[in-house]
Amino acid sequence: MTAQPQPPTAPDALAPIAPDVIVMADAVHTLAPGLGDVEAVAVRDGVVVALGSRADARAWSTEATRVVDLGAAAVTPGLVDGHLHPISGLELASGVNLSACVDLDDVRAALAAAAPTGEEGWVSGWALDPNLFGDVEPHGGVLDEACPGRPVFVMLFDAHSAIVSQRALSLAEIAGEQEFGDASRIAVDGEGAPTGLLLENQAMRLVESIMPRATFDERVDQLHGLLRGMATTGITGAHVMDMHDADALDLLEAAELAGDLGIRLRISPMCLPGMTDAEMADLIALQGRSGRRWVVEGVKLMIDGTIDNGTAWLREPDTRGESTDPLWLDPAEYAERVAFLHAAGVPTATHAIGDRAIEFVVRTLAGLPRTGVQHRVEHIETLPDDVLAVFVEAGIAASMQPTHCTHYTRADQTDNWSVRLGRERADRAWRIGDLRAAGVTVALGSDWPVAPYDARASLADAVLRRPALKPDVDPVLPAQALSARQALEGYTSHVFASIGEEGGTLAVGSPADLAAFALDPLTADPDDFAGAEVLMTLIDGVPVIGRERFGPAVVENGEEVSA
Ligand SMILES: [Zn+2]
Repeated sequence: MTAQPQPPTAPDALAPIAPDVIVMADAVHTLAPGLGDVEAVAVRDGVVVALGSRADARAWSTEATRVVDLGAAAVTPGLVDGHLHPISGLELASGVNLSACVDLDDVRAALAAAAPTGEEGWVSGWALDPNLFGDVEPHGGVLDEACPGRPVFVMLFDAHSAIVSQRALSLAEIAGEQEFGDASRIAVDGEGAPTGLLLENQAMRLVESIMPRATFDERVDQLHGLLRGMATTGITGAHVMDMHDADALDLLEAAELAGDLGIRLRISPMCLPGMTDAEMADLIALQGRSGRRWVVEGVKLMIDGTIDNGTAWLREPDTRGESTDPLWLDPAEYAERVAFLHAAGVPTATHAIGDRAIEFVVRTLAGLPRTGVQHRVEHIETLPDDVLAVFVEAGIAASMQPTHCTHYTRADQTDNWSVRLGRERADRAWRIGDLRAAGVTVALGSDWPVAPYDARASLADAVLRRPALKPDVDPVLPAQALSARQALEGYTSHVFASIGEEGGTLAVGSPADLAAFALDPLTADPDDFAGAEVLMTLIDGVPVIGRERFGPAVVENGEEVSA
């Protein structure tokens, strides 16, 4: 690919650019309006100082400049996952990953193999697909069969429900239904005995709070490992959608004492139903707390649960008569809290999955005074036309997860999510294409640990509407597919726009956060791109992945350090 003629992007020729680093590749997708593709990015002090052709770059470099030519590769702005849970998800991911299980025998075998021998220890698992239970509601019996007499906790894939064994129920002193401050629920059988299914956070906490935890130092190590893993897929930043762990900020501070985080984190703590005014004041006071690569910004709320659990908020009940109520016992309280945050200048992100939930949230947001604070809605799983129109009119941003659609629903609508909704509402699944066509800003993300964090696969799934590398699987509503460019924007420029910020592009003056891939995300076959080698990620011009490409030494925090 040859560089097109560009408007001048370097300072005037008399002022030397003197870059620390120049990265060159056949395609550098700046995604900057009016700029197009170039071949070279020059970086000084962590900031992009020039963009142009390889020929231009020859004139920029000095003896001190480290020049890396990646050849037939593609460079993009660093990918930013718009929605995930890296801190509260840490411990989950230390149990057995059940996402590859295709039936309940697989689940029993995986858990039995993970049970510690000889002792009475806990067994935990995550990412269990409720479709494996067929027509039956998920229950703890399968865990008692796998690990007789042991306490077992298994989170379902959506992290909104869990199944636990009989021993876990008795250790947590759960003998029947209980009242919660939100719509959390303990599932019971005809005799009122718990089945082992716990729905939503407050019910799950009853068991989670008595489980042994990893030590603080172990979690610091786990966090570094996890963020580094994300970087290996081209990610340089993420929006963290909770701060559930009381020690989350201590953890981040300790992690940065040990070394730089592998990606940047923008952390939005939760505003929960029933919070006191003092707790609301704390949420405001937390805004702007930061470290080198993390900042507390925005607030996350949840108006409903999930379709799969029957805890979403729908206009009409699902086919089992469920998903009829919001998570907030009084949704007017939600609206008051959002108005309070808006007045304080705090951008919000609200989890809203059912059609009634999404409608309530966008109408609440549309009724706020227009002060320029950008609000966002998360998930948006079944979206009627009249509600889509409110997004457009009110300038509300969307945040969606392509892999939720491609991993957990099927084109023939035989999956639990589609069966519960019925055809008409299932045909409105993840309308990412319609939202983009209507001009709505759509950030994309994984919701890890709900789905894998690999950004390359998420980009491919957004284009394919089926799981990457599974060409035999039929696409789900292929009319909602994004173009490769729209998908890339969903992980770059649109993520920033979704929170009212400029960014996610490569332009002179922007932070030098970028990713380099062996294949071009805009032109490669999406299945091929899902497995493309990540050659490099840079944050503020400092390599996270691909450090070795910079030769024997690199500049870090203004000082030369050995590689
Ligand atoms: Zn989430």
